[in-house]
Amino acid sequence: MALTRVNRGHPEWVEAIVSDVSHSKCVPQDDMPPARNVTLSLMERIGGQLSRRVPLWWRSFDLPNGALSVSFDDFPKSAWQMGGAVLAQRGVKATYYTSGGLCGRHAMGLRQFDLDDLQAVYEAEHEIGCHTYGHLSAYRHSAAEYAASIKANKRFLEDRLPGLTMQSFAYPYGHAPLAHRRCASRLYLSCRGVATCADRALNRRTVDPSLLMSVGLWAGQRRKRDISSLIADAAERKGWLILSTHDVHDRPSPYGCTPAELDQAISLAQAAGLDIGPVGTMMLRGTTNHTAKGSALPKSPGRSEAEVRGSSGDSATRRCRVLPGR
Ligand SMILES: [Zn+2]
Repeated sequence: MALTRVNRGHPEWVEAIVSDVSHSKCVPQDDMPPARNVTLSLMERIGGQLSRRVPLWWRSFDLPNGALSVSFDDFPKSAWQMGGAVLAQRGVKATYYTSGGLCGRHAMGLRQFDLDDLQAVYEAEHEIGCHTYGHLSAYRHSAAEYAASIKANKRFLEDRLPGLTMQSFAYPYGHAPLAHRRCASRLYLSCRGVATCADRALNRRTVDPSLLMSVGLWAGQRRKRDISSLIADAAERKGWLILSTHDVHDRPSPYGCTPAELDQAISLAQAAGLDIGPVGTMMLRGTTNHTAKGSALPKSPGRSEAEVRGSSGDSATRRCRVLPGR
């Protein structure tokens, strides 16, 4: 009730934040089963909603057909063994946001990937993204600890996958306060969070590389997203829909999906004419398309225009070059 009182007579942005926190139209962050949830205090939740609305920088963005990216977080073994089979049948490449510290473990109620899975995902030319080594919540670790875990993950993955150049990052639990966004987005071309509001589910026109939005393809959501409507919206408004999930199983965890649900989402996107590809590929394509039309790129810390354009020839560009499908 206190939140309702605050809502009266305040500017639109204050009302929107209050609305988010009071769950009137959004999927709440605690719409997560306790086994995987990091419980946030009220102040952390308010801070999280504020942070989501503060852009660190903008990139103008253009994907003329609209786009879909599929992403798997952590990643559970079934994301490759069953999810990878669906992707192969549909001829689609995805992004696997990987936490090295989960390798070979049974964690968060699921059997996680092992080195053979990691190698197979890489050889199948899916994108390997970073998800911190220790699967850290940004609300429970300082920016310095977070950065150290990102670097440890980079070392772990690059040591095992020669030639890997990671350019995509996803925040574990979707927790993305400003200090951690600043830290991660200096290291990666894009950093993905989780949309809590249906009206901000699509990435379009201008995107903040420090906080791309994704929609959970999760079995356990109390209010399931209407994926078919989101895909239709992406096609109509030329937006970029990023789906995030974990395990893929006939009886998935609350954070996973069935093979049929994954297949249906891809099938609908293909029928709607969306471009489909890994997050890193779509991020670079969207910014490059816009640049090719002659628009000036806004400046952003950590990367030059040449890096974003992906032109060849200098060392900075080579660091950010997108390998096909990776
Ligand atoms: Zn995760």
